[in-house]
Amino acid sequence: MGKVSVYIQVCMKTIICCVLAAVLLAVPAGASRIDELTQSLQTASEAEKPSILNDLAVAYLDVSPKDALPYAHQALEISERQDNHRQAATALKTLGVAHIYLSNFTDAAAFTERCLTLARRENFHDLVSACLNNLGVIYRFRSDYKKSLEYYFEALALMESQGNQRLVGLAHSNIGTIYYFWGDYDKALEYYFQALRIREEIADRAGIADTLNNIAVIYDEMKQYQLALEYYQKSLRLFEELGDQRGIVNPLNNMGVIYYVYFQDYDQSLEYHQRALKIRREIRDRLGEAVSLNNLGNLYRAQGDGETALRYYLQAMRLKEELGEKAELAVSLRDIGDLYRERGQYELALDYTRRALVLAEEVEAGKDIRLAYRDLSEIYATMGDHARALEYYKQYNELENRMLSEETAGTLARLQAGKAVEGKEKEIELLQREQAAQRNLRNFLMVISVLIVGISLLLYNRYRLKKKSNLELQAKSDQIQAQKEKLETLNAILEERNKEYYISSIMDPLTELYNRTYILDALNKEFSRSRRHHTTLAVIFMDLDHFKTVNDRYGHMVGDYLLKHIANHLREEIRVEDVLGRYGGEEFLLILPNTDLAGARRVADKIRDKIERTVYHYGEEPLSITISQGIADLAAHQPCTAGEFLAMADAALYQAKEAGRNRTEIYTPPAGT
Ligand code: GH3
Ligand code: MG
Ligand code: MG
Repeated sequence: MGKVSVYIQVCMKTIICCVLAAVLLAVPAGASRIDELTQSLQTASEAEKPSILNDLAVAYLDVSPKDALPYAHQALEISERQDNHRQAATALKTLGVAHIYLSNFTDAAAFTERCLTLARRENFHDLVSACLNNLGVIYRFRSDYKKSLEYYFEALALMESQGNQRLVGLAHSNIGTIYYFWGDYDKALEYYFQALRIREEIADRAGIADTLNNIAVIYDEMKQYQLALEYYQKSLRLFEELGDQRGIVNPLNNMGVIYYVYFQDYDQSLEYHQRALKIRREIRDRLGEAVSLNNLGNLYRAQGDGETALRYYLQAMRLKEELGEKAELAVSLRDIGDLYRERGQYELALDYTRRALVLAEEVEAGKDIRLAYRDLSEIYATMGDHARALEYYKQYNELENRMLSEETAGTLARLQAGKAVEGKEKEIELLQREQAAQRNLRNFLMVISVLIVGISLLLYNRYRLKKKSNLELQAKSDQIQAQKEKLETLNAILEERNKEYYISSIMDPLTELYNRTYILDALNKEFSRSRRHHTTLAVIFMDLDHFKTVNDRYGHMVGDYLLKHIANHLREEIRVEDVLGRYGGEEFLLILPNTDLAGARRVADKIRDKIERTVYHYGEEPLSITISQGIADLAAHQPCTAGEFLAMADAALYQAKEAGRNRTEIYTPPAGT
């Protein structure tokens, strides 16, 4: 225990954030602890009472925050009567935290500020930094990120001067999360990695596990899925070692999402979501349970099993109804509506989606309101009621445009107000350009909808006017022709955009080499081709040596920088017909069509030599690295499948590592085969 996990629905990913200093420093909670404290309260002297009352309040925070309030108030009253400033300040802090738990941020801010004033006056430095941190949390919940950061930075400075590394790690992590909410992923990573380093130094394992999950979420947002997975796995393993069930569900849930959304590996995704569901039930995290149920619904729906999907959605819906979670409920209702639309049950679809809209409006959930409008538009469009579809689409479009310009205005203000104004101009310009592009796309969709309605109306008119006037009809049909041509132009634009999407689906964004999916596909093709035409084929599997040390010593940013430059070097050494890809983290695969063993060996030597001799520079820092390679040659060993062929190169690479690294080995079958 000792921390708060907050669910944030980012594509149903969960981030662990905003840990409250007050709770972190407090005693463990739980029912037995409450009994124990209640008993000692009965025999306590007047002087001991405030501290026990405060501990009781803290123990209630996780169980029932409402019940923490009277104890904390009592503690405050008695310690004020006794002129015990330290206890009074502690009680004020606890009151602030209890109100955060109750989402009552005005009172939370008032109590925490009172605590801060008192602690400053009396020089209680630890309480000052805790209050500053908690104010950061409060303003985060109020979405005032600027103010939140100001408090966190002040807290950080103080914690550093006090030398409490545990709190310094915490402050870094909290700052990272604010940057995440702000969409500044580079900064978020920078602070998370600092938090990680500090927490590693003091072996704060629970903190490390949290941070690993959050780093993964950032990589996930940055579309570096392989790396994100690596961090999720590490976080999961550590939570498992710690037996922290509440922590475990976060990487599980997030990996479930990644496998479903990005890798389309439904089985793996199912396994993760089901594990998360089971744990959430065990620890009675009921909102979490509902989130898992809904995720499972999505998964089955994507596989075309609408029946099972509906069952899960309905379970999620009932649970959310029971919990009174209106914003969450709106999400499930929309999903159900959309499923009914797919199944052609339009009345039901309309019913659920309208209910979702009402709820979303009630809680002013802007995003859900927009999406409900969009869904309603889609349902009417599927039903062929284009006039209504257009009406809803207009509302959706209007809200979307408003949101976009607000968001951009906010980010622009942040960038312009930021300390490092120089150097950000490019970012600002990019943002403005992106906004323009999005608006264009939206308006383009708007035009299409108008055209669809226009064409339907025209066709209808044509029918009506047929008897009236042939001439008029001709004019209308010309108009339709013109509009059709317009549509064709717009289609061409769409096609161009599709091409861009295709490219991004086969490239690794960091190194700009082909990604794993593409390179494996290429290997299959080359393998079959060589088989069919009896041509030579070789592959080289490469892995950088001791790359983890680079990350550990200089940080991940430097690791990334090095990967990018090495990829450039590799590219320079190959022919156009060779296929080079990033297989995984620091592993590369090079496919050499029409190349025999001697040729492959030459390429490998050239590459190995070049990397060994190059000194890379990150700022002032000179960096050297070596590479190990394994070669497999098709003619020599006649593997049955491309997979077997790859495994041979991998085995040779393993031999190269075993034999001391910075070398190239050629596959030889194990003795006795
Ligand atoms: P060996 O010589 O045995 O290959 O040692 P190694 O440290 O290179 O081996 P290992 O495979 O255990 O570690 C690879 C490391 O590469 C682990 C991971 O932190 C790092 N890595 C993987 N992908 C990336 C990336 O995209 N960026 C950065 N900076 N590091 C990465
Ligand atoms: Mg490796
Ligand atoms: Mg390696």
